Amino acid sequence: MSNIEGKVVVITGASSGIGESAARHLAKLGAKVVLGARRTERLEKIVEEIRAKGGTAEYQPVDVTDRKAVEAFVQFAEKTFGKVDVVVNNAGLMPLSPLEALKVDEWDRMIDVNIKGVLYGIAAGLPIMKRQGFGQFVNISSIAAHRVMATGAVYCATKYAVNALSEGLRMENSDIRVSIVSPGVTESELAGTITDESTKAMIEEYRKTAIPAEAIAEAIAYAIGQPDGVDVNEIIVRPIAAR
Ligand code: NDP
Repeated sequence: MSNIEGKVVVITGASSGIGESAARHLAKLGAKVVLGARRTERLEKIVEEIRAKGGTAEYQPVDVTDRKAVEAFVQFAEKTFGKVDVVVNNAGLMPLSPLEALKVDEWDRMIDVNIKGVLYGIAAGLPIMKRQGFGQFVNISSIAAHRVMATGAVYCATKYAVNALSEGLRMENSDIRVSIVSPGVTESELAGTITDESTKAMIEEYRKTAIPAEAIAEAIAYAIGQPDGVDVNEIIVRPIAAR
């Protein structure tokens, strides 16, 4: 029996890209997956497809910028399945632009979703895990947490923050596993959040090397599937051509 089978795995941002792929993959490996995002009709369809293949899945609408909604989402998982083994803090957006473009609303949005959304996921999951005496956070960061690129100052800052929060969480809790999964360019809808025209054109070119979201789902499954005493701290997964 793998260390994934029977685990209750809560995933934010599960309506597309990496979150969707992780939900499908983990369900195939026997996890009970609980999907959250704002686009409910997508979640409903993904859950139906997982169930049709014999998997166990539920969904609940959640906006990760709403602390109470995130709390209700994780509590829904606990009420439904009796425990929470893993919270995958995956929801994120990446409206890249040069700072000079002053897209301040987009800066706010990235901070709200990419940083505060992760914190709310921790706030919702940690009390449950401490009560249980076990649990795991898998925080989806990025190669943007390792190197700052032009147009990515705010996005990179949010991902550096995800790494700092994850490290702090790990330092404080010897009973909770904390894993960071840092993708390089990966097929998803992420670039669709870019509104700055010149950045959009540049990123479209850059994204041609994208790897499938399944590659990241495999990394998430690896981090979850290790024995209880093993904490995978970080996995970086990039296209072969990435420099
Ligand atoms: P997608 O755009 O395909 O997925 C983003 C997900 O986040 C969607 O399910 C979206 O759902 C959800 N989301 C966005 N805002 C909110 C919100 N306020 N509340 C709840 N859910 C929200 O992109 P990816 O799959 O690529 O992104 C997943 C993670 O991977 C992100 O954290 C991203 O930064 C990271 N990443 C991705 C890389 C890539 O190249 N793809 C590279 C490095 C990191 P909905 O709109 O339905 O709410």
